[in-house]
Amino acid sequence: MADLPLMITLMTVLIYLLPSCIKSSEIILPKSLNLTLLTDPSAISAASHDFGNITTVIPGGVICPSSPAEISRLLSYASNGERKFQVAARGQGHSLKGQAAVLNGVIVNMTCLAGVVISDDMKYADVAGGTLWVDVLKNTAEKGVSPVSWTDYLHVSIGGTLSNAGIGGEVFRNGPQISNVLELDVITGKGEMLACSSQLNSELFYGVLGGLGQFGIITRARIVLNHAPKRAKWFRMLYSDFTAFTKDQERLISMADDAGVDYLEGQLFMSNGVVDTSFFPQSNQSKIADLVKSHGIIYVLEVAKFYDDPTLPIIGQVVDMLTRTLSYLPGFISMHDVAYFDFLNRVKAEEDKLRSLGLWEVPHPWLNLYVPKSQILDFHNGVVKDILLKQNSTSGLTLLYPSNRNKWDNRMSAMVTDEEDVVYIIGILQSATPQNVPEVESLNDSIIRVCKDSGIKIKQYLMHYTRKEDWVEHFGTKWSDFSKRKDLFDPKKLLSPGQDIF
Ligand code: FAD
Repeated sequence: MADLPLMITLMTVLIYLLPSCIKSSEIILPKSLNLTLLTDPSAISAASHDFGNITTVIPGGVICPSSPAEISRLLSYASNGERKFQVAARGQGHSLKGQAAVLNGVIVNMTCLAGVVISDDMKYADVAGGTLWVDVLKNTAEKGVSPVSWTDYLHVSIGGTLSNAGIGGEVFRNGPQISNVLELDVITGKGEMLACSSQLNSELFYGVLGGLGQFGIITRARIVLNHAPKRAKWFRMLYSDFTAFTKDQERLISMADDAGVDYLEGQLFMSNGVVDTSFFPQSNQSKIADLVKSHGIIYVLEVAKFYDDPTLPIIGQVVDMLTRTLSYLPGFISMHDVAYFDFLNRVKAEEDKLRSLGLWEVPHPWLNLYVPKSQILDFHNGVVKDILLKQNSTSGLTLLYPSNRNKWDNRMSAMVTDEEDVVYIIGILQSATPQNVPEVESLNDSIIRVCKDSGIKIKQYLMHYTRKEDWVEHFGTKWSDFSKRKDLFDPKKLLSPGQDIF
């Protein structure tokens, strides 16, 4: 005990010194490139971590490009002759396990290239690769238009989500974000600046969409726009029966635009986790806590219908349809009427809350999966009930909602489970402490093992494999095209090495 003040002083000195101890290896760029390579401890430290907070990967330097041409010069130089260093585009670094990192190589800070230009006919926006989706929304909604497919969280970059898929509650109707892109400007691993679309350089276009940053750096995306509604009626309904819950979800995603909802997701309240009842009226909150305690799991169906004043009558019909035809627990429906922007940006409020509690910058060993509709009950019984619910405690959210498979384009690199018309999107989004990361990761491993052993045909999303055979299995019949595209567009294997594919 007598040594406590000394220990505190030592720890304070260590924490203070830490950023200057992060040492990067030296990269020297020729003057003729006219590029500034940032190597100061704060730039290096910021590019060494990501949202997952599980890995630390130290780059050699960071560039903040003022134009796509600068990225092209960097990649032409790096790929010329002997490979000089690897390169990773970094949007917001909201990856989970170093996917936007590069050991000893160069990080391209894409946030330096941001901006939105809306076409005269307002049918699309040309968006720079580092732009945040929230800024696309601000710029477009101001003019009465909006993209049609959203991730739950908008403080992620265009290039980052288009390299994965960009999924959320509008996918069942409009497809993932990658299905709503008309054209891209891409700088390949050889430094070529190419425009591409389904008609022009289509191999590159389809490769890059969901391509995990492997074939080129997206500097511009032409994003489809539609009318921006002003407001959203936002509902949550509770179920104690899983089959009733999924049956209603599946029915809602099969309905036509006007008659149905515009957004649909779902989450689980589990008795061993934190149950956030704040969406519901005060008078119902303790009843909900009791329901969760007595049932173990309560299923939360979440939907929204967007509207403007003139379309308000349709809303009445949709509310009527929800209350008359769905099988939620009587009395357990709650509705909020919010601005369209606030609805789409809803996770920001959660971020602010978690940040204020010091719970945002913690490890996030998240597991995201696609599960075919025919196996969702097996998944529920084998994983949710037999694994998750049997933990002493769980932290974070579990999302579970269906989507229509025909909204995906198989020519793109993104992988999703095949064969069935409906696929479930699952997010087991646990927070951890530095000490219990291995425990949560081994829980995730056991979930994957149980799925494999019981024949549940999952695909992972935002995954991080370290073994080649896992990647080959992940891409299945697309693997051969995926690796051919790598040879074609990034033969020196410079790009996004943090994905650990090549
Ligand atoms: P980064 O982490 O910076 O990069 C991701 C990958 O893309 C890296 O390999 C990187 O090298 C590459 N890359 C980045 N920019 C470019 C570019 N311009 N050109 C080529 N390659 C590039 N995802 C969903 O789909 N739906 C959700 O609802 C969702 N919710 C989320 C909620 C939270 C709180 C968080 C933290 C993440 C969520 N995500 C969701 C995941 C998120 O979409 C991905 O992690 C995405 O990659 C983050 O974008 P980023 O700009 O931070 O990308």
